[in-house]
Amino acid sequence: MREQGPAPKSLLQRCPVHGSVCHKTKQAAEVALAGHVGAAKDSGVEGKAWKRLNVYRCRETETWHVGHAKEKLPDWRKARQERRAAQQPKPLTPGQLRRKIEHAEKERARHTERAAYFAEQIENLKYADYLWAREVAATAKASKPGPR
Ligand SMILES: [Zn+2]
Repeated sequence: MREQGPAPKSLLQRCPVHGSVCHKTKQAAEVALAGHVGAAKDSGVEGKAWKRLNVYRCRETETWHVGHAKEKLPDWRKARQERRAAQQPKPLTPGQLRRKIEHAEKERARHTERAAYFAEQIENLKYADYLWAREVAATAKASKPGPR
């Protein structure tokens, strides 16, 4: 038994929302956290879940809880998010562009009230198509393919 350990669990108020023990101060929660981490490390029963334990403020009861940091993502998820954020949107292929134009034209026919929006979309896509065609033509000219 620790001399200055936390109060017996039965005496502690529990949050109706989180089910966690409510600590009146952040310091009290931190003491409880330290005790919990120590116990978890010693026993090894909870694996390494204690690593993500922290102290947070409960909005409902205005007390402090010891719990798992939900805002901290696992490393693999963090890496995935960063990778996705870094990814440049891929340019559309001519086929995709053509299908998009066709789709937008169909949508314009269906939604007369949004005709202006789709008309603009079509203009943009056609311009992208034009740019693509020009790019392809320029590339073809530059590479000067020999006779086949
Ligand atoms: Zn709570």
